[in-house]
Amino acid sequence: MTQGHDQHPTDPAALARSVFTWIGDSEQLVDAECVNLYAGTNIQSPAVRRAMATTMNSRPSLGPPGDKYETGLVYSDRIEVAAMDLLGRAFHARFVEPRTLSGSMANLVAYMATTRPGDDIFAMPLEVGAHATHHAEGAAGLFGLHVHSIPCQPGTHLIDWGAFAVELERVRPRLVVMGTSLPLLPYKLERVAALAHGVGARLMYDGAHVAGLIVGGCFQQPLDEGADLLTTSTYKSFGGPAGGLVATNDEELAARVRQVVYPGLTANFDMGRLAGTAIAAVEQLQFGSTYARQCIANASALATDLALCGLPVWNPDGESGGRATHSHLVAIDARPFGGGTKAARVAERSNVLFSGIPLPVETSVDAQPYGGIRLGVQELTRWGMTEPDMGPVADLVTNALTQPSHADQWRRQVLDLRRRFRTVHFQLDVATSVPDYKPA
Ligand SMILES: *Cc1c(COP(=O)(O)O)cnc(C)c1O
Repeated sequence: MTQGHDQHPTDPAALARSVFTWIGDSEQLVDAECVNLYAGTNIQSPAVRRAMATTMNSRPSLGPPGDKYETGLVYSDRIEVAAMDLLGRAFHARFVEPRTLSGSMANLVAYMATTRPGDDIFAMPLEVGAHATHHAEGAAGLFGLHVHSIPCQPGTHLIDWGAFAVELERVRPRLVVMGTSLPLLPYKLERVAALAHGVGARLMYDGAHVAGLIVGGCFQQPLDEGADLLTTSTYKSFGGPAGGLVATNDEELAARVRQVVYPGLTANFDMGRLAGTAIAAVEQLQFGSTYARQCIANASALATDLALCGLPVWNPDGESGGRATHSHLVAIDARPFGGGTKAARVAERSNVLFSGIPLPVETSVDAQPYGGIRLGVQELTRWGMTEPDMGPVADLVTNALTQPSHADQWRRQVLDLRRRFRTVHFQLDVATSVPDYKPA
């Protein structure tokens, strides 16, 4: 894989040409020449990209639709209202706040709407994949929250219900955060909600990775199962632009969320991003259930095929022979490969992309920081791959990891495979839905 750091021009005009060249090179490399199993990404449809790439990006828009500080926003307001309507339908929510710039910021907004600095909250432990924003080093800690880890059964992703109930009674937190960056299993949300509400805590569900599965009706419905707030990123399995949102059915909470976002943390926001998110929501409403079902089928097939290749596929419930995944993600024990980060760098040479992730396992110094490898099939699914394609993908992952000295050979195989998958599936027909669309 060429890196290009070595050819950095100093002349500004030459650098500008280079920026455009690198945009094209990056699209070619990542979109067409890699098997991209990185969990927190997706390929956007041409319709979403068309909606994003407009001058609306730089048009400010302060306040609620219909009552903006600026004038000239009559059409922009219609898009904003449409986006909230579409996203509300997709996430089964009466209220959606889509102006948050990222999933991380959506989490901060949720904390600011439900807690005060110094309050106690509970979140899943980092070793089962909790996001940094749930813990001391991220938004929760920066806002001054005192974070307690939800007790889990050792070596698994399962909650230790007895210990959790005792801890909740003892601490009486303001908020419980569910969700991780490695959601292999749905959480027993109704049970968590009963426990949290029993001690006067709110329940927030961070669905950053599983948004596309939630919308597709194939995983869990957090707001229907007792979560007071749902936060998510919009560019992972959801397939929209990079951004975040907060959803709720609670009118009073919705008002607090809106107050935190504006005038609290956001003045103007990127209307182009919101337009793209609205189109992504339409695609999810139309194709989401087929897409989500295919994602889950592909992940199950990939887990089986990786195990057949001899890789140590991680089982979240600790039962040998149990199901490795109920979502679009698969984890592998990375300790035989020197840890997840090292494994990802090695596989990059074969144009196979993924990342490290913590697992609740003992790691030696040279396998740190990540004991696991995390793979997501959401992008390959959008490129049209189905269960029979997961065998060759598993072979490529295995070969890239175990025989990196043959990286040239694996890279050629990646190119051959990707040549068959060049169009985005589960997308609006741009020719009929985008009035002035001209194919590049
Ligand atoms: C990716 C992720 C986020 C952060 O989302 P960004 O939009 O990248 O800021 C939050 N929570 C979880 C669980 C995540 O995996």
